[in-house]
Amino acid sequence: MSFVLPPPPQPSVGIKDSDARFPVHRIYCVGRNYAAHAREMGMDPEREPPFFFTKPADAITPNHATIPLPSRTANLHHEVEPVVALGKGGRDIAPAQSLGHVYGYAVGNDLTRRDLQFEARDKGRPWDTGKGFDRSAAISAITPATQSGHLGSGRIWLAVNGEMRQNADLSELIWSVPEIIAELSTLFELAPGDLIYTGTPAGVGPLQPGDRIEGGIDGLETLVTTIAPRR
Ligand code: MN
Repeated sequence: MSFVLPPPPQPSVGIKDSDARFPVHRIYCVGRNYAAHAREMGMDPEREPPFFFTKPADAITPNHATIPLPSRTANLHHEVEPVVALGKGGRDIAPAQSLGHVYGYAVGNDLTRRDLQFEARDKGRPWDTGKGFDRSAAISAITPATQSGHLGSGRIWLAVNGEMRQNADLSELIWSVPEIIAELSTLFELAPGDLIYTGTPAGVGPLQPGDRIEGGIDGLETLVTTIAPRR
């Protein structure tokens, strides 16, 4: 086959303690999957269940990256999240079978232009400019589930310049990982290489050039990202 342009590179994520890489197919994200975060966003988690949105696959930003402050925002926010990496796809996956579709787990940062997200929300517009911008999907190396086990409980945290901003337990998720995979697979045909950002706990907040962001989840590689001045 020949292409009229060079085909774009395949987005991928490193595997912990390996030279092999995880090829990224799609990036799905869960919104408002912790009650305390839903409340800090001004929503009632009792009345509004979590929901899905997406980012482009090439929004992936590897661990230890320095990224310029994104354009057109005065309120860039961090959101530390567990990321599920799927090794097997499917449709209408039952919750009891869903963990068999997981290749591994990583620490993610769902970087968000909060001002543009809120403007879109308030005007009933899509979230792409607030959520799906370039370099908006920071991610650590993936730890295979055969090494980490499946995520159910354990600490999730994020610090900016050494100051703790987010600190919660994975057991506080409204939708568990099996429930997320099952629900998502009724809306989309899932594929090997899909990543799912499963939602952030409370404590999200603004980032400035020069900030060093560290995010961690028990048993996974710590994610470090640095914000540089706007280009
Ligand atoms: Mn998020």
